[in-house]
Amino acid sequence: MDDATGGLYRKLSEFNLFDTLSNRFHSDDFNATRSEYIRTRVNILSIIFAIFAPLWIPIDYLLLTSDDAGVIAVYRLLLSIAMLGLLLTNNIRKRNLQHSLLCLTLLIIFPALFYTVCLLQLSGNDTLIGYSFIPFLLVAILSVFPLTLIEASVLGTGLIAALLCNDFFYGTLFTLSGFKDLWLISILLVIALWANQAQLHMLLRLYRQATRDPLTGLLNRRVMMERMKEMSKTWSKSEQPVVSVLMLDLDRFKRINDTYGHLTGDQVLQAFSQIMKDELRSTDILTRYGGEEFTAILPGSDMENASHAAERIRMHCEQSWVASTDNEPVRFTVSIGVGELKPGETFNDALHRVDNSLYEAKKTGRNKVVQAD
Ligand code: GH3
Ligand code: MG
Ligand code: MG
Repeated sequence: MDDATGGLYRKLSEFNLFDTLSNRFHSDDFNATRSEYIRTRVNILSIIFAIFAPLWIPIDYLLLTSDDAGVIAVYRLLLSIAMLGLLLTNNIRKRNLQHSLLCLTLLIIFPALFYTVCLLQLSGNDTLIGYSFIPFLLVAILSVFPLTLIEASVLGTGLIAALLCNDFFYGTLFTLSGFKDLWLISILLVIALWANQAQLHMLLRLYRQATRDPLTGLLNRRVMMERMKEMSKTWSKSEQPVVSVLMLDLDRFKRINDTYGHLTGDQVLQAFSQIMKDELRSTDILTRYGGEEFTAILPGSDMENASHAAERIRMHCEQSWVASTDNEPVRFTVSIGVGELKPGETFNDALHRVDNSLYEAKKTGRNKVVQAD
């Protein structure tokens, strides 16, 4: 990347544009959180539609011919049923972000279809009370979701395209009223996109604050415990996959603090976290367990692979140093316990075994990796 591109990249990063543009840089864990957030809102809105769509039937009978009102009553009931179906689909067991986004798309498509068939029935007479606002209502609905710019733009463009199609079909596209609607909906859509971005940005920030250790950026202990619970839940139904655990504790860290000060101690913690990130995979779950103690869960790694990874971390620490506040090189070492989860064993039991081997490493001289039996 050249300087100009790098500068632009940094500027855009400052505005968190990459964070809210697409979900490419979001963790699986955050995607699961966002998916849950979208799912509950789709639930609420589909219930509201299911209840409110048929409630307008008596008013249609007052305002429309009874033929029109009869046909539209059927459409309203169909919309209500579709929304109840959506509610069921939205709550199936296997949920993920794609599933939630699909349900959100259906939440927009069903009323849009309803609007279109009502226009057909009423021969494009969309000045009738209770119908002309549907496209605007759908844009308002979009604004309550934490969507990325790409997701919101796709849905928004779809809505505008549907509105244009209807206007074109009924010849109102090039009239003042058609233009007025298009203008208004475009402005509302821009506001909705802004609301989407703001919500996603806030969700990301709160999520990071709640799950990450501010000094090292690693996950905190509570999240690790939750992840372990989630992983074990999926195993009870299928075979337990290979997974290993590391417990890492910096050696004589108190001495570093006492000799060079707390700030230098913090720098060592940051340097060590970076070494963990460098030597382990992005799919591994790295945690600051507390103070100068860290853990790593290595899905897919057996004892041999995990021991190699631990040894790489240990050696990398031996070769590293940070500059103290007086510009002196400060070296540090780490002791590591490593173990593979046994069939049927709980994570807590495995952590206990690995903690014992870490204790063994400390007792027998530090700066070493000890395998749990
Ligand atoms: P051992 O080799 O047996 O692990 O010795 P140790 O000195 O590393 O272990 P001990 O548990 O006695 O000391 C841990 C120290 O870590 C004490 C505490 O002040 C320091 N510590 C904990 N959290 C932080 C932090 O966030 N920043 C800094 N600078 N120090 C911390
Ligand atoms: Mg220590
Ligand atoms: Mg300790």
